[in-house]
Amino acid sequence: MVTGTGKERWIEITSETIMFKGKYCGIGSVIDITDRKNLEENLRKLATVDQLTGIYNRYAFEKFLEEEINRAERYGSGFSIIMFDIDNFKDVNDMYGHQVGDRILKELVNIVRNSIRKSDIFARWGGEEFMILVPIKEKQDAYRIAEKIRSEIENYRFDSVGKVTVSIGVSFYKKGDSIKTIIRRADTALYQAKKSGKNMTVVAD
Ligand code: GH3
Ligand code: MG
Ligand code: MG
Repeated sequence: MVTGTGKERWIEITSETIMFKGKYCGIGSVIDITDRKNLEENLRKLATVDQLTGIYNRYAFEKFLEEEINRAERYGSGFSIIMFDIDNFKDVNDMYGHQVGDRILKELVNIVRNSIRKSDIFARWGGEEFMILVPIKEKQDAYRIAEKIRSEIENYRFDSVGKVTVSIGVSFYKKGDSIKTIIRRADTALYQAKKSGKNMTVVAD
């Protein structure tokens, strides 16, 4: 409902027909449920959005991934996941403090958000680990996207901290994959990137 002053309110209307003095009449009530609606919306967001960075949380990402796996099984559509972890982030916290660490996380999320498509699913997997679900089948294309993200972060200069880098693992949907197996391959690729010197992208087989 829009009020006389142009404000939007959520209302709940109930009505029924009654017999009154031998005639059918309508009786009803109109209740303003705006507060309840706002509360519901906030709870929904809390359940799917990471509070620090504003992107999807792990729970939401798993839901999207599950849907994407179902779609791939049904229609043969492929996709990839790009997993990345900030290099030596513990040092950033140790040297500049946790608050600066938090700011780096937020700024880094903005860099990545601007470099991917709106339709890509970007989530905070935990701590300083992130996931992106991209509807891409070709290894070379996913590698190119991952490398673009990696180099944009590498070339950015963060206030007081300077250069920050990330290591990236990429995996592709394979027939029969579950959430667990496709993430495990990305995680293993990421681990290889770390082991091979960090600040690089490794694509899983
Ligand atoms: P590596 O290159 O191997 O990834 O080294 P690392 O130091 O980044 O790795 P490690 O996983 O050991 O450390 C992650 C650090 O990230 C530890 C933790 O203090 C920090 N961290 C995780 N979540 C947050 C957060 O929300 N805010 C801040 N400021 N730091 C966080
Ligand atoms: Mg790290
Ligand atoms: Mg980590």
